[in-house]
Amino acid sequence: MRDMAAGPRVLLKRLRELMAEPLEPQERLDRIVRDIAANMVAEVCSLYVLRADSVLELYATVGLNPNAVHLAQLRLGQGLVGTIAASARALNLSNAQEHPAFAYLPETGEEIYHSFLGVPVLRAGRTLGVLVVQNKTMRHYRDDEIEALETTAMVIAEMIASGDIGRLSRPGLELDMSRPASFTGLSFNEGVGLGHVVLHEPRIVVTNLFNEDSEEELRRLEVSLGSLRLSIDDMLERRDVAFEGEHREVLEAYRMFANDRGWVRRLEEAIRNGLTAEAAVEKVQSDMRARMLHMTDPYLRERMSDFDDLANRLLRQLMGRGPETIAESLPKDAIIVARSMGAAELLDYPRDRLRGLVLEDGAPTSHVVIVARAMGIPVAGQMKGAVSMSENGDPIIVDGVEGTVHLRPQPDLEAAYAEKVRFRARRQELYRELRKKPSETKDGVKVDLLMNAGLAVDLPQLAEAGAAGIGLFRTELQFMVASTFPRAEAQEKLYRDVLDTARGRPVTFRTIDIGGDKVLPYFKGSVQEEENPALGWRAIRLTLDRPGLLRTQIRALLKAAGGRELKVMLPMVTELGEIAQAREIIDREVRHLARFAHHLPTSLKLGAMIEVPSLLWQLDELMQAVDFVSVGSNDLFQFVMAADRGNTQLADRFDTLSVPFLRVLKQIADAGIRNHTPVTLCGELAGKPISAMALLGLGYRSISMSPASIGPVKAMLTELPLGELKSFLDDNLSGPAASLPMRALLQAFADDRSIPL
Ligand code: PEP
Ligand code: MG
Repeated sequence: MRDMAAGPRVLLKRLRELMAEPLEPQERLDRIVRDIAANMVAEVCSLYVLRADSVLELYATVGLNPNAVHLAQLRLGQGLVGTIAASARALNLSNAQEHPAFAYLPETGEEIYHSFLGVPVLRAGRTLGVLVVQNKTMRHYRDDEIEALETTAMVIAEMIASGDIGRLSRPGLELDMSRPASFTGLSFNEGVGLGHVVLHEPRIVVTNLFNEDSEEELRRLEVSLGSLRLSIDDMLERRDVAFEGEHREVLEAYRMFANDRGWVRRLEEAIRNGLTAEAAVEKVQSDMRARMLHMTDPYLRERMSDFDDLANRLLRQLMGRGPETIAESLPKDAIIVARSMGAAELLDYPRDRLRGLVLEDGAPTSHVVIVARAMGIPVAGQMKGAVSMSENGDPIIVDGVEGTVHLRPQPDLEAAYAEKVRFRARRQELYRELRKKPSETKDGVKVDLLMNAGLAVDLPQLAEAGAAGIGLFRTELQFMVASTFPRAEAQEKLYRDVLDTARGRPVTFRTIDIGGDKVLPYFKGSVQEEENPALGWRAIRLTLDRPGLLRTQIRALLKAAGGRELKVMLPMVTELGEIAQAREIIDREVRHLARFAHHLPTSLKLGAMIEVPSLLWQLDELMQAVDFVSVGSNDLFQFVMAADRGNTQLADRFDTLSVPFLRVLKQIADAGIRNHTPVTLCGELAGKPISAMALLGLGYRSISMSPASIGPVKAMLTELPLGELKSFLDDNLSGPAASLPMRALLQAFADDRSIPL
């Protein structure tokens, strides 16, 4: 019996030799199509490459008229070749002329060929061209021949991606692969970054496409599949942790896929055809992605991303690659491009090489974005298609101001952005100068500009940004970036480091605020799945029900703050009883430590966050019950407006500077003054100069923001005649003004007075 895999294997071996030879690109392509035709006993073999103008151009042929090379062309969707490219599916026809899509190109002389096999040239699910074989006789190509042609197409895809074939393109008719592309999404963090693409889930760089020994590769695949299955079983069996609900479902799906015979068979087949195990995973995944691209069923699309993730895991197993080795090969100006990403994963990248982050999904308040903000890197999100259009090493610009991304930018655009970066650097210099000036409005009112933090990476920024202290230390971030609960000693160490770095400047520690959108994968949360997690078992509700968690944290805080002032703040308070309960736990810990003669804080202040609207109707009682309050405007706004803060469809729908919300904020500021209780605001609102200006006008004298915002807010503040703004706001907010365009009015107020916003 004929060894079915011998043909493809011989062909791949030939291709490997051809790739290694020092040939001109056209010569190499010509030899490749000749070898494919010979190997497949076909009279014709042609390669069409997709150009940036969506035209498929004949790049090489044996059998068709050689003069048609670089002349014959078809639009995407036109003819058989255009149909294959548009659908990303192979066509196998014994009589091509009878196919309804057949389009006759007279310059090629192809009318004498009847049978036709065409496959898309795919890379990461993206079509780069079409590879065709034809025969005069009417025949139907076998499955193994289709497979062989697809495998060959993959090699060609790598040649296109490497830029080798692109050198043959004429000016103005560049390949689709090198086409500049721009994306518009949302700005998640300000700043502009120029650099080179680093795909977060790296597509394998197929330096090693061809295997030397199929049996050995099959063994490697088996071993890696084995460890992959084991690791999934392992995760599923860890019943003590939080692999319930969604997590569990995803893992069950992974387990099913990892044992899917069809998948494994396709992988093995690709290896038998001569690919390495890595290249086989890439090929099978790419075929599958291309087919699924046209599917609209959200469930199936979701499963596809599970499959993608699984394939990536398998690749990592095969390549023995962890985050450390990825970081080593990082360019100096890395811009990470990812579908979505966990906060901990971002921290695996060395900060000094990161110039930006591009996310296909995500929301401005998701945790990876919070961490990116803490690291001070520009972030643009909701960039649909950015991952599949990018290649590692592509030049890229992230514009975190406009919320745009430019991939493979034209030189003039790149030059304009380089100028922008220089301009921003000059402005940063200006902000540094401002640090020496007192934090006062133009009419001499002192304002505390504090910063938000939560991780050790934030701490150097305290001095750099010139913050008056830390207005919100999000202690849950330490929990979120860990893989198990941080031990009491680790918590204490972080808190001590924070206080040491602050050197007497005030620091407000918020007790862990988990639940809702802040999930700890290792924490088995609520027994039942929550339908509305934002309104669910989270923050203080959760810690009062699990007092062990709170006690450990309070003890760590008390010890770390020995001999200094300690400020503790409770998140998501809904009723005053919660404060009393927390105070009891704190008092007990204080008594406990005192009994064992621990060095206690010199003073202990307890505060509450105002995030739940119920507090708005008990502001005076609240102010009397605590030592200070801080407005969490992110949550307060989402609950006042009934608009999920993570839902990007609602991101621009309601305005934080609308009259009703400004009135809410004013009520809180007034209650603070009335009760002599210090009020701070620590949501994202504090960090935008225009909203920070409004806050000052409403009576806030202490606001806390990401460190990068302190410079711009201070620049605004020192030019602000606060008295004028106050009367302006009083006038506008007290009358029947519900539909006033407050944002525009505030902007005009600033413009008239040359206040930089
Ligand atoms: C807020 O809700 O405004 C806030 C500061 O807390 P977080 O963003 O951590 O929920
Ligand atoms: Mg909050």
